Amino acid sequence: MWAPLLDALWALPLEKRIFGAVLLFSWTVYLWETFLAQRQRRVYRNTTHVPKELGQIMDSETFEKSRLYQLDKSTFSFWSGLYSETEGTVILLFGGIPYLWNFSGVVCRRAGFGPEYEITQSLVFLFLATLFSALTGLPWSLYNTFVIEEKHGFNQQVLVTIYADYIAPLFDKFIPLPEGTLKEEIEVMAKNIDFPLTKVYVVEGSKRSSHSNAYFYGFFKNKRIVLFDTLLEEYSVLNKELTEEGSSESPKSEEGESPETKAKGRNKKQGCKNEEVLAVLGHELGHWKLGHTVKNIVISQMNSFLCFFLFAILIGQKELFAAFGFYDTQPTLIGLMIIFQFIFSPYNEVLSFCLTVLSRRFEFQADAFAKKLGKAKDLYSALIKLNKDNLGFPVSDWLFSMWHYSHPPLLERLQALQDSKQD
Ligand SMILES: [Zn+2]
Repeated sequence: MWAPLLDALWALPLEKRIFGAVLLFSWTVYLWETFLAQRQRRVYRNTTHVPKELGQIMDSETFEKSRLYQLDKSTFSFWSGLYSETEGTVILLFGGIPYLWNFSGVVCRRAGFGPEYEITQSLVFLFLATLFSALTGLPWSLYNTFVIEEKHGFNQQVLVTIYADYIAPLFDKFIPLPEGTLKEEIEVMAKNIDFPLTKVYVVEGSKRSSHSNAYFYGFFKNKRIVLFDTLLEEYSVLNKELTEEGSSESPKSEEGESPETKAKGRNKKQGCKNEEVLAVLGHELGHWKLGHTVKNIVISQMNSFLCFFLFAILIGQKELFAAFGFYDTQPTLIGLMIIFQFIFSPYNEVLSFCLTVLSRRFEFQADAFAKKLGKAKDLYSALIKLNKDNLGFPVSDWLFSMWHYSHPPLLERLQALQDSKQD
């Protein structure tokens, strides 16, 4: 039954087959991601209790708030995703790209630029295309900002994150880590794994999102370690303020408190104990020892090389242009768009999935490295401490997580460490 259909499809001209394949692939990816999103949505709907590993740091009120927010968000993404997939398909089916290209040509000719000015026409085309996508996207992003995030009070958080990630680092103040036990222990650890450490710095006083806590930089035999002061209990500005205030709230009666009140207590000391700092550093140095940094650089270089090599071959293929309605002309800008956005899209999907898998593997390997240094227990407690302020919704569907998260979610890391704590 299928054979005649396939034969008929195969008999179509090459450009029609290319066009069909592009559309088919785009919808396949769309349906797959929608399927994953629905799985994740089921997790939002059914997980009504804080996982026991996180009972200490997340109270049920915060958990519920974040759960409802994610539910609303996922409904929104469903509709906006459906809209944009349909819009893209309609544009392709009705020849929106050649139409806009010709329209740009008309605009140029009116302004006195003939067909020989391909660059001018390309700029006009880019401008109009950007304008169009901004206009069609605007209602969605307005709805997202002013309805969904407003309703859940998440607006400010976005601003804080932008500040913490992009603006605060511009004003970072680096000072050498003072002499003391921590510095000695770091040097011993570096020596044990042959890390060519030359200096240890602390970044002072900043309000930042906690996903970067420590890193290293430098070439070859001249490496430096940088620790954020928010990582260090003895160093954290928050703790200093706490001591200066003369701690109005007594931090004594911790044992009698339920985990929930503990989680709410803002006045507790922030940051990690020395052993925990070393465990976090053990993870980071694991990335170095296992060659993760170098591997990532090599992969991205090879990828760029491959892409430009393929592009150079494909840009000469007239059928590719014809597939998208360009029969007589082959403008370079349109070629770039067709090849990078449509033709490479299967390759990009596969590549990005492989990179996600690899990156997660690297994270688990770095955790395992810290464990081999005997730091599983300290890393476990450090991870809990460091993530308590930006947990979001901590539970995820495994398939959704595997496809989307380049960094394993906290719970998965904790579980892996727990498994390894036993052996
Ligand atoms: Zn890592």
